[in-house]
Amino acid sequence: MTEKHDWEAELLCAISNLVCVLNQGRITYINPAGITMLSAKDADAVLGHELADFVHADYADLLALGIEAFAEEEAGIPLKLRPINASPIDVQMRVRELKDRADGDYMVECRDISNYIRASEDARRREQRLGGVLATVGDAIITIDQKGIMQTVNPAAERMFGYAKNEMIAQNVKLLMPDQYADHHDQYLDHHVKSGESRLIGRSRELEGQHKDGTRFPIELSVTELREGTQRLFTGVVRDITERRKAQEKIEHLAHHDPLTGLPNRNLFTERMERAIYRAKRSGKPLGLMFVDLDKFKPINDQLGHEAGDTVLKTVAERMAHCVRTSDTVARIGGDEFVAILENLDHWESAAVVAQKIIRALTQPIDVSTNKTAQVGASIGIAIFPGDGNTLDDLSRAADVAMYAVKEAGRNNFKFFNQLNSAA
Ligand code: GH3
Ligand code: MG
Repeated sequence: MTEKHDWEAELLCAISNLVCVLNQGRITYINPAGITMLSAKDADAVLGHELADFVHADYADLLALGIEAFAEEEAGIPLKLRPINASPIDVQMRVRELKDRADGDYMVECRDISNYIRASEDARRREQRLGGVLATVGDAIITIDQKGIMQTVNPAAERMFGYAKNEMIAQNVKLLMPDQYADHHDQYLDHHVKSGESRLIGRSRELEGQHKDGTRFPIELSVTELREGTQRLFTGVVRDITERRKAQEKIEHLAHHDPLTGLPNRNLFTERMERAIYRAKRSGKPLGLMFVDLDKFKPINDQLGHEAGDTVLKTVAERMAHCVRTSDTVARIGGDEFVAILENLDHWESAAVVAQKIIRALTQPIDVSTNKTAQVGASIGIAIFPGDGNTLDDLSRAADVAMYAVKEAGRNNFKFFNQLNSAA
């Protein structure tokens, strides 16, 4: 019997929770862990005191209900202990009536939960911080489940797509896509969920989003997958790349166009000409390349000023563009040098008609200021594919030679390269 009691006493000593016995509200027993938890010197510093002496003042009203009130609480109640000369400790308190002992005997057990509380406070702070980040980032962050139903959206998603949060949550994410993407999304998601294959997870792709008002805009989407228990969730980070696209397009445009006239520059002319030669090889239709150099353009600059010269160049660009089909190309490849690529000619000699049209258009007076007009002429050399060459270089050289022949012969006219010898 004594052996059993020693064994039980040992257990009480080994336990890490505070265990004490209250009789008429006063502490009549406390285990060693309880002495430590209350930072007491020894048991005598605790015995005879009321439990309330070691409980934080915030909980005084609660304790005033009487210890028996807590005996019913199966799970216990959270409480703050106030140890002697030490900072408060969060505990979970369980109370049990000791029925086979004197009336009014209760056992109180307090488990230190301060680590747990600290961890959950840390988690809450982290969540708040994350919430703050999600609220302020410019990217839309949208979580969907494996059926495509939106679970969470951040404020940027509301701004970007024009829907309020409650219009998006529980809706399918297809709401935010143009039809061409929406039509395939179910199938795509389903395939991914079943096979694990994905074109999106872990890399970003440029796609299109659709605003509530129906307008589409370019987006960059990256998706990560996370598993929450048995559920699979997908988080999409969506960046509106409208501005980036505009900047790219601007750079692209600058690289391929002449800033003064807006016409294609030499780079784009080269690309277009190579494509035109390729097409002409397939179609068998003659292709005309026209070199146009303005006559006596320098004197306009000298006499009327550089600005007037610029106005003339811009006007020439517009007029030339009107003389060809919209599918043809007019480009500015130098100071007063323009080219025209004439595709799908019925007959190579049809190029003469265009040349005459250009000369007629360009020789019309050009208003350069309120009461001043300028007049230019144009010398045009024409090379024809396939007769005059098969490559851009050969055809360019031929057109250039023909153009100089016009200059030498007195300007403001056109010549075909293939007729130079016969005309000489
Ligand atoms: P030609 O009849 O023999 O062709 O002589 P031209 O006076 O037309 O002179 P040329 O073709 O040799 O030279 C073109 C001139 O165009 C030279 C340059 O001062 C001028 N020029 C080149 N680029 C620009 C420009 O962007 N704006 C203006 N206003 N003038 C330019
Ligand atoms: Mg010239």
